[in-house]
Amino acid sequence: MEKEPMLKVEHLVKSFGTHEVLKDLDFSVNKGEVICVIGSSGSGKSTMLRCINGLETKTGGRIFFEGKEILSGSKELAKFRTKVGMVFQSFNLFNNMTVLQNCMAGTTKVLKMNKEDAKFLAIKYLRKVGMAPYINAMPAQLSGGQKQRVAIARALTMEPQMLLFDEPTSALDPEMVGEVLGVMKNLAKDGLTMMIVTHEMAFARDVSTRTIFMDQGVIVENDISEVIFKNPRTARMKEFLKRYMEA
Ligand code: ADP
Ligand code: MG
Repeated sequence: MEKEPMLKVEHLVKSFGTHEVLKDLDFSVNKGEVICVIGSSGSGKSTMLRCINGLETKTGGRIFFEGKEILSGSKELAKFRTKVGMVFQSFNLFNNMTVLQNCMAGTTKVLKMNKEDAKFLAIKYLRKVGMAPYINAMPAQLSGGQKQRVAIARALTMEPQMLLFDEPTSALDPEMVGEVLGVMKNLAKDGLTMMIVTHEMAFARDVSTRTIFMDQGVIVENDISEVIFKNPRTARMKEFLKRYMEA
């Protein structure tokens, strides 16, 4: 029997009014894969992630998680969303809560975990991202890189089967990009399944197992990262990479 992908997306379409932003996307993600999604601004990368975890309602197509179809508005969707975490460009921490409280919010409120267990997990994952010494800090006291590491720890406390990242380093000062990419590299080493929208080409090339290149709402290339960066097949991808090298 062939192994079932963790996530399978079939004919995904998303329109905003008459603007078709995602045009018939097909791809799947296997357990343990780290997939980077690259492409110019406006190509539909964020919308794709948001459709996957139900932050946007898709216009058409089907999404399966471990073989089970995720229908919008269904009970499965709520359950699925606890299994698939998301990390945003703008951190989205609760600014009125401490680091520790931020990392206990999901587990106590959504998973109804007791405080002791929630605190244990919070500290476990804050330690993992090197932020355990900051449990009593407020987000405003942290640097961007520290905030993003807390946001990653918060996502990890839910012990998700998959993590989606939408440009996790794009809002950071250059000197803080490395610390966040380092955390993500460690998660990749641990075998966490991840889908990462990024403009960090070296990270995509060296850390991800597979890279998806999107352009104007279409998946133009989807291949092993090593292959795609060495031998882009399409003129569009070549052009995109060339612009990056020049920038
Ligand atoms: P990317 O993340 O690749 O930069 P997005 O997914 O954010 O691209 O956007 C893709 C297209 O969808 C853009 O043209 C954008 O303007 C449009 N779009 C995204 N969100 C909305 C929305 N809520 N309403 C209308 N148009 C949107
Ligand atoms: Mg985006």
